[in-house]
Amino acid sequence: MSIFSDYHLHTHHSGDSEAPMEEMVTKAIGLGLKEMCFTEHMDLDYPTCYDLPPEPFTLDVKSYREEVQKYKEVYKDKISIKFGVEIGMQPVCLKANQRFIKENDFDFVIASIHLIDAQDPYYESFWTKDTVENLYKRYFDITLENIKLFTDFDVLGHLDYMSRYAPEGDHTYSYERFKDQIDEILKYLVENGKGLDFNSKSLKKSPDADPNPSPAIMKRFKELGGSIITFGSDAHYPEGIACGFDKMRDIALSCGFTEYYTFESRTPIAHKL
Ligand SMILES: [Zn+2]
Ligand SMILES: [Zn+2]
Repeated sequence: MSIFSDYHLHTHHSGDSEAPMEEMVTKAIGLGLKEMCFTEHMDLDYPTCYDLPPEPFTLDVKSYREEVQKYKEVYKDKISIKFGVEIGMQPVCLKANQRFIKENDFDFVIASIHLIDAQDPYYESFWTKDTVENLYKRYFDITLENIKLFTDFDVLGHLDYMSRYAPEGDHTYSYERFKDQIDEILKYLVENGKGLDFNSKSLKKSPDADPNPSPAIMKRFKELGGSIITFGSDAHYPEGIACGFDKMRDIALSCGFTEYYTFESRTPIAHKL
């Protein structure tokens, strides 16, 4: 394994995963990883539609912390386990999110946009609300708006992730097409010392797919002075851990990166790519 850490992982503590934490840990050890960071979902004010139970992504942080502590100790000679979170940004839960991060001693915080005007692009219904072009514009707009409001994070989660769920055959999205908006987001991240979650989830479904963000965005981030990137599989079950990391490493190198990062108590630590 060329990259030794997976920094985007979910278990049964996330509303959309049933993975036992210990199975995730033993799988990561088996793959040769030296470090893993769990980043469970915390998406407050998730809409009560989509046939999901109420508050499907409200994290029980106490039981999550206890389980991380347990396996951290059990496997301390084999792997370093970090306590992270993936927090869903929406203006409506800004204060609660700020409080939540302040009150908890996370090693690492990913800030993500999973909802666009309270609609989840994961569901087909989202894509019928407007033209696809307008929906992307809105997504990049609210991404910028939210990272300016909510600043207590380390990396922006899977930028351009909406493209994962675009209607089949739709090719509206490219970095070039939304360049102005994306550049504004990247510049803001660079100026504020924030990084990007380089996310390989789409490669699990199709090895030829682009990661999120796309290589074009990664290249631009580097050109603009960005340096902090973390490698994350966004695995919700053991088989997804570190998926496509060799390919991801090649992409990062070809975009000019020479380092990737892990975190401890919110402090970035650089490693040679
Ligand atoms: Zn996410
Ligand atoms: Zn995730």
